Amino acid sequence: MSFQPAEWRRHFPLLANHPELHYLDNAATGQLCEKAFDAVTLHELTQRANVLRGTYRLAELADAAYENARRQAATYLNAASPDEVVFVSGTTAAINLVAHAFGEGLKTGDEVVLSLAEHHSNLVPWQMLRERRGVALRFLPLAPDGRLDLSRLDAPISPRCKLVAVTHASNVTGAVTDLAPIVAAARAVGARVLVDGAQAVQHGPVDVQALDVDFYAFSGHKAFGPTGVGVLWGRSEALQALPPFLGGGGMIGRVTPEGSSWAMPPRRFEAGTPPIAQAIGLGAALDWLRAQPWPAMQAHTAGLAQRLIAELAVLAGPTFIGPRDLKQRLPIVAFNLADIHPHDVCQVLDAHHVAVRGGHHCAQPLMDRFGVAGAVRASFAPYNSEADVDALLEGLKDALRKLT
Ligand code: PMP
Repeated sequence: MSFQPAEWRRHFPLLANHPELHYLDNAATGQLCEKAFDAVTLHELTQRANVLRGTYRLAELADAAYENARRQAATYLNAASPDEVVFVSGTTAAINLVAHAFGEGLKTGDEVVLSLAEHHSNLVPWQMLRERRGVALRFLPLAPDGRLDLSRLDAPISPRCKLVAVTHASNVTGAVTDLAPIVAAARAVGARVLVDGAQAVQHGPVDVQALDVDFYAFSGHKAFGPTGVGVLWGRSEALQALPPFLGGGGMIGRVTPEGSSWAMPPRRFEAGTPPIAQAIGLGAALDWLRAQPWPAMQAHTAGLAQRLIAELAVLAGPTFIGPRDLKQRLPIVAFNLADIHPHDVCQVLDAHHVAVRGGHHCAQPLMDRFGVAGAVRASFAPYNSEADVDALLEGLKDALRKLT
């Protein structure tokens, strides 16, 4: 299937409403695809009712749409069953769920292994667990180019390790984690593996069975779906072994004044009214994304990132963070321009209608490792084009003229 970026762009209503915009903040939030928008609208106009409670026809329509979304998410992830898909509010909520439910079973002396490349969402919940349960945190170090240094995995992943929680791809460097050796090291000591997929899912379908991990978390809004929804995928056996995190309606078997029993997953982890419309929108987005020509789209976004990296080297002063080999990274490019503060660069770029992010990107340990307080980050989606790179480079030249 051939791929035309301009065609693809037409599927994103916001971009049509802002023809002047060069949107390069896709690692923060992708634009909503019209399939998701249409599914949410259809649901709100024709199916809106609470799920899992009603016996009337409208409620049954809502139930069917919600469970269909679960199947669509399961298919995108190649999950063994839709029951392995838990709808949550996003990656952060998914990781906190595991930090509480899995963390509940940990004790002093147990270890959780993270990496220095983690987004704060996959670090702070584990620090909070350390406070609650006395577990120790250990960190996989970074290689000079920002990839994880996997050369001595048996040191951090010792028999005391109960869980390894790592990112599938860095939201700063774009570096893709080579998960296979990490999974092998975790399996060798009987530890579970959680993967933060927040940056990976929008670059093509993921195969959780092939990855052979236990938990996989991602956010709908980064995968061209609605905000306020995300997925915690868990291997059936791993989810069934967990107690609930939040208590409330829908997650119980039987409740008496003395106590309660729990529903089976995924309901056990979906207390209260879930983000119904958002999940339906996300399901539609993933169903549409799954059928897209990914190899061509990946080549397109990699080409844009590659050109940006090459042109940055020509501009005076930029320091680039992350691996240069595009095979090991997603199209996310972080850099500093001379000694100009990233926020100042972003402001000049905004005058050129270029939307990029500047700051620490919720990855302060990674910034510390590179000895910088922050960076400018341009992140590409398949709807981006050479014109977006042109505008970004023009804006950067303007920033150099104005601010150095
Ligand atoms: N992990 C990574 C790698 C991310 O990039 C992000 C979002 N920037 C998150 C976790 C958190 O996602 P959310 O805010 O949607 O929960």
